[in-house]
Amino acid sequence: MKRFTYERVYSPSDAVEAFASTPGARYLAGGTNLIDLMKLGIEAPAHLIDVNHIGLDRIEDTADGGLRIGALVRNSDLATDARVRSGYPVLARALVSGASGQLRNKATVGGNLLQRTRCLYFYSGDLPCNKRQPGSGCAAQEGISRNLAIIGGSSACIATYPSDMAVALRVLDAEVETLRCDGGTRRIPLANVHALPGDTPHVEHVIEPGELVTGVLLPQRVGGVQRYLKLRDRASYAFANVSIALIAHYDRQGLSAARVAFGGVAPKPWRVEAAEAGISSAADPANHIVEIALAGATPTEQNAFKLTLAGRALTVLLDEARASATC
Ligand SMILES: Cc1cc2nc3c(=O)[nH]c(=O)nc-3n(C[C@H](O)[C@H](O)[C@H](O)COP(=O)(O)OP(=O)(O)OC[C@H]3O[C@@H](n4cnc5c(N)ncnc54)[C@H](O)[C@@H]3O)c2cc1C
Ligand code: SF4
Repeated sequence: MKRFTYERVYSPSDAVEAFASTPGARYLAGGTNLIDLMKLGIEAPAHLIDVNHIGLDRIEDTADGGLRIGALVRNSDLATDARVRSGYPVLARALVSGASGQLRNKATVGGNLLQRTRCLYFYSGDLPCNKRQPGSGCAAQEGISRNLAIIGGSSACIATYPSDMAVALRVLDAEVETLRCDGGTRRIPLANVHALPGDTPHVEHVIEPGELVTGVLLPQRVGGVQRYLKLRDRASYAFANVSIALIAHYDRQGLSAARVAFGGVAPKPWRVEAAEAGISSAADPANHIVEIALAGATPTEQNAFKLTLAGRALTVLLDEARASATC
């Protein structure tokens, strides 16, 4: 095992200062992803900065009627917050579909956002993986690709991004707040946080080394019927083959507007706003969304089923949403 040092910090500014002064450092939140990767030797930080005691563990109302969720809020606490359950139910539903109760009690909002892929070759130290070791190749292209991306990947990497929470945050138009090592702050739309692999699959997001995620901002509640459907190989402890976050609005004529994001199909939460335009006049809204949002998909033989599954899942979800909107 590679030796590392450990330090506990007590404020966000101490965290970024500690990072700036220690080469090879990483932030430690719930540790449910980072510690696993360290045990497997896939991540080997020289220094861990424990950010569990820096505050940022509250969910607060914002002046414009939204919510600010601290980066250290645990997934369980976020899922059970009354304001989230009533105003942002798609988020509560996505959270409880992830991992297990024990993991959600430890996992934080910041750590969930920056968790790494579950591609099995990424975890298998002796096979080529451009994400783990840039330039080494991609064992998945000719290997087992059932759980990997059908859109947004590249010849260098077809891994999916695994978070359920982030798929819901994408339809909610959330923003991520950060504190940089130079003391500056940023507010980044969730849509722009995660990167497509291109020829640099090891670069997974735009958060810079040492930049601390301090929270997530949710805009004013948007109402509508909100649903999250996750389809996976077993009912617990499994990542999505396909998941869908939906916010649907109905009027007397029927479906008037919808926001749809897909998980389990791409290297980031996949939402194409252009697919949502014209939904109210589409004869088959699910097909309309899938045809536009997943246009250009390049599935492998093993995961082509995800295209069909996405369409069927969205049909079911829209049927359920319509039924609950009219009852
Ligand atoms: C068996 C198992 C099943 C799972 N199933 C699911 C699932 O179905 N759906 C799902 O969405 N997830 C699932 N997960 C993943 C789990 O949700 C993540 O491991 C968890 O959310 C990570 O949060 P954490 O606080 O433990 O992060 P950590 O492991 O502490 O950190 C993860 C990464 O984020 C960085 N980081 C943490 N906090 C910050 C911050 N504030 N600023 C900057 N960087 C930060 C760390 O340096 C590290 O690189 C599963 C995990 C396991 C082990
Ligand atoms: S798909 Fe990405 S993570 Fe998986 S082996 Fe290829 S490069 Fe590695």
